[in-house]
Amino acid sequence: MTDYSFRLTTIPAIKERPKESNYDVVIIGAGPAGLSAALYSARYGLKTIVIAREMGGKVSLAPLVDDYLGIPSIKGSELARKFITHVEQHKVPLVIDEVVDIIKDGARWRVETKNGERYYGFAVIIAIGSEKRRLNVPGESELLGKGVSYCATCDGPLFRGKIVAVIGGGNSALSSAIYLSSLASRVYLIHRRNEFRAFKTYVDQAKRNPKIEFKLNRVVVEILGKEKVEAVKLLNKSTSREELINVDGVFIEIGGEPPRIFFEKVGIEVDGQGYAKVNPDQSTNLPGIYVAGDAAGGPHKYRFEQIITAAAEGAKAADATFKYIIGIKSKV
Ligand code: NAP
Repeated sequence: MTDYSFRLTTIPAIKERPKESNYDVVIIGAGPAGLSAALYSARYGLKTIVIAREMGGKVSLAPLVDDYLGIPSIKGSELARKFITHVEQHKVPLVIDEVVDIIKDGARWRVETKNGERYYGFAVIIAIGSEKRRLNVPGESELLGKGVSYCATCDGPLFRGKIVAVIGGGNSALSSAIYLSSLASRVYLIHRRNEFRAFKTYVDQAKRNPKIEFKLNRVVVEILGKEKVEAVKLLNKSTSREELINVDGVFIEIGGEPPRIFFEKVGIEVDGQGYAKVNPDQSTNLPGIYVAGDAAGGPHKYRFEQIITAAAEGAKAADATFKYIIGIKSKV
């Protein structure tokens, strides 16, 4: 289960190494922030390349996007495809690979990948978002792919007519529960508090949905099952009692973890949570390295993780990069 490769096959990208190694700007990540940065960089005439583990980022997993200006309602994967197509029109190479290190090498930064490739850029824009947070309860890793999932749009169709639980109280959990209710016979929405981080519109929609049952003020203590998920054990925080709910699937949607380890390896200063400390122009403590989108943080960041804000940060990073590179080239 959770085979993300469909995104690689349905969304075009170069899988072989491009002939050219030297660029003005190397962009890491191909979600809204990275692709927006690529579009603006290319339009500024900067020689640009995008390297990403997968094309589209988290947006391509969203069941439905209904808050992107000008597009009242669209599947996340379709919106991601539009972003990619737009960037491709500017002949920017999009490469599937994983960046493992970024090292200063003369006037450029050397970007090293898991496939052993090296790309060089005067500037690097990092837009790698965050990793899905794990619950860290017994049964979670043992039953991963056997009923435990982190992606409702990828795995939801496997639970047609079945009973599922969604864990979390943010926009991802609520929108996943609403999407899953169109497939499953019953959806339990399990959240550790009585209040939600999710937008009121999603909460109201879920509350009106007869297939969704709220289990609030409860924490998951274990996911049970032998060959596959059979039940979740919950602790009711109000009564201190444990309860068992029989389910076929568990969708964990409890937010993301910043790429702290990668930033620390590269030497980028991070904030208390592990997001890169960025200035208002998305620059970091390392000259020529910019961070945009969900992975950016620090005191200047107003955290509002939306497609539109990520795209805006990508555009700002590209503009700042353009000015930085003009400065560099005037000295070379
Ligand atoms: P989120 O907003 O950070 O919410 C995570 C939820 O999981 C919270 O309710 C949190 O509980 C709960 N949680 C965290 N750790 C937990 C744990 N260990 N055990 C149990 N529950 C835990 O994450 P998200 O929903 O994935 O959204 C991420 C960002 O993307 C947000 O900024 C969100 O607005 C955005 N997003 C936007 C849309 C949209 O606009 N349509 C759609 C999806 C996501 P507490 O509330 O108690 O902390």
